[in-house]
Amino acid sequence: MAVTKNTLPDRAAILNARSVEETVRLMKARLAGIVPEIEIAAKGELAFEINQLKRQRNAVILGHNYMEPALYHSVPDYVGDSLELSRISAKTEADLIVFCGVQFMAETAKILNPQKMILIPAQKAGCSLAEGIKAEDVRRLKSAYPGAPVVSYVNTYADVKAESDYCCTSGNAAAVVRYLLGKGHNRVIFLPDEYLARNTAHDLGLQFVLPDEPIDPAKPAIIGWRARCEVHELYKTEDVINARKQFPGVVILAHPECHPDVIALADMAGSTKQMVEYVKNVDAPRYLLLTECSMGDNLAAEFPHREMVRACSLRCKHMNLITLQDTLASLQNLQYQVELPPDIIQRARLPIDRMLEIK
Ligand code: SF4
Repeated sequence: MAVTKNTLPDRAAILNARSVEETVRLMKARLAGIVPEIEIAAKGELAFEINQLKRQRNAVILGHNYMEPALYHSVPDYVGDSLELSRISAKTEADLIVFCGVQFMAETAKILNPQKMILIPAQKAGCSLAEGIKAEDVRRLKSAYPGAPVVSYVNTYADVKAESDYCCTSGNAAAVVRYLLGKGHNRVIFLPDEYLARNTAHDLGLQFVLPDEPIDPAKPAIIGWRARCEVHELYKTEDVINARKQFPGVVILAHPECHPDVIALADMAGSTKQMVEYVKNVDAPRYLLLTECSMGDNLAAEFPHREMVRACSLRCKHMNLITLQDTLASLQNLQYQVELPPDIIQRARLPIDRMLEIK
């Protein structure tokens, strides 16, 4: 019998399973057709141990949408995009937060919870965007464009956030820039993702310039930077054209870190949260997500009545570092603790709080 929405075990059942056998059985049902059973047999044991230890330590596990499917469906108490997980980390009562995501996300949780221990299972889980800009770059831009507010994508390290006026995610980038235009600013520095900045400028009808390019003083402008997501920049317009030929009726959802030409050919552009909502609520013959490829697997497991085209193999090497083994080691050895200088925490808090206030 095919698994339907109603017979699918939910993630909470897996989190609360009372034995390894029950964990494995539920994971097999939830991940049928997504993860080979032989892999689940080994991973179920780890997941059960993690869930037990998590309760003993009064810990909460946050899992980003790009976690591999066996981890994503078995141990996080909450899953979501950066913005959702930031909101949850700001409210949690747990003593300990384990962030199954990359370094900048765990740093954001630390900034919002300076008194709590924040753990990241893999210390070297970076991000090409976060590494693409330094605090000194932001200081130089501020002196080149005096008075222009700095909006930093949440995919930045804490010292860059500390130099910024607002943070944003792909889910509220346009809302943050629109808010600043409404306050009378006609230039906004938007860092570091060039494509997200270009796509936001396009959506709002603004001019886009890079720091060495001339600005038309008559039009409001977004001043961007040259960093890119090393995963999303790999999608090309040919991929969209070929997918439509190969999979008739496919609806293509693109992340706004993709090139503007790719976005122009997609049916919908949005954050991973917006993609989840779209697949959940909009009927289509099949869906293709132009984003990190674990997300397609995770939605295929979540919505077995939907057909996901899982044609991509674009895995983020940083997200891929977060494993169940390392998550268990993280809880056992309280590693790796996120530490930030107090003055950076203090200065980075304001732009994050402002981001959380703007929907
Ligand atoms: S998918 Fe791109 S933006 Fe996300 S962590 Fe990986 S490199 Fe960074």
